[in-house]
Amino acid sequence: MEFRLIDRIRERTAQGREDVRLGIGDDAALLAVPPGMELAVAVDTLVEGVHFPVGTAPADLGWKALAVNLSDLAAMGATPAWALLALTLPDTLAPAAREAFVDGFADGFAALAGPQRLALVGGDTTRGPLAASVTVHGFVPAGQALLRAGARAGDAVLVTGTLGDAAAGLASLQQRATDPRAAGLVERLNRPTPRLAAGLALRGRAGACIDVSDGLLADLGHVCAASGVGAEIEAALLPRSPAMLGLFDEDAALDFALAGGDDYELCFTVPAQRVAEVQADLARSGCGATRIGRIVAGEGVRVRGADGAWLETARRGWDHFAA
Ligand code: ADP
Ligand code: MG
Repeated sequence: MEFRLIDRIRERTAQGREDVRLGIGDDAALLAVPPGMELAVAVDTLVEGVHFPVGTAPADLGWKALAVNLSDLAAMGATPAWALLALTLPDTLAPAAREAFVDGFADGFAALAGPQRLALVGGDTTRGPLAASVTVHGFVPAGQALLRAGARAGDAVLVTGTLGDAAAGLASLQQRATDPRAAGLVERLNRPTPRLAAGLALRGRAGACIDVSDGLLADLGHVCAASGVGAEIEAALLPRSPAMLGLFDEDAALDFALAGGDDYELCFTVPAQRVAEVQADLARSGCGATRIGRIVAGEGVRVRGADGAWLETARRGWDHFAA
């Protein structure tokens, strides 16, 4: 109950919305879900040293804490509306430092929330190890959410954007590389772009959809498990940025793209004959998508190398990802 801090957050994230009957300031928020809509709700917590590197700028953290949650809404094909923020701040921070941190955090949060017209409607502020937990609420027309369970044998597997950049950015930071070419990769780590427009464009089109937060193999593995199918991925088709390929050798770049995590791209399936049409729609929505493989009968995710042979995921330590 740090009322000055809460006021600072409220001022910096102010967003007028008709459906917020009562926002920050009472014991609970009062919210009105539009008729015909289902509420899509997700929460993700970022803990310092676990989910973001020590020393991450407060504004980057505010952005990312919201972004990782909006990515979950994107993967459902939902439109974001409201958020709750549970912020835990170290009591080792002096009051002025605490205020500066909260200001930066709220500004980073607002930079992403504002254009989405997302309202911060409440939260909790406590002392302890630095962590930010955001709960997001979005709307999706009843029955139209994109689920993990809709992949069918014969479908094509696609992914938005490029894979591995955030993991490459983290590796660059850890190697204390001052190479200016890594700046764009570090930006992908700190300020991921939730693919909300793509998620909307995929409604009624994608069979299955998931956001890639733990690495392609792990997350496509979840789609396969939920759908009762397997997947075959072509390493040569994986979309990888020139920035990553310029800084890391092929082995590392392949690792990052397949198992790196923190990408926040969408991985989804569509019937093979609709790939071109869906790609055109996505390109119009502002984020292109690449076909990387196909859904097959069976289970698990296999990756074919550029030479045509299956990659030995076990030897590379990806086993637990693909299972
Ligand atoms: P209570 O003790 O009733 O839970 P609090 O003192 O924790 O109330 O919070 C007061 C008001 O401020 C509530 O409306 C709560 O939702 C809001 N709030 C607290 N912390 C935050 C935060 N970090 N971000 C947004 N709203 C917050
Ligand atoms: Mg409270």
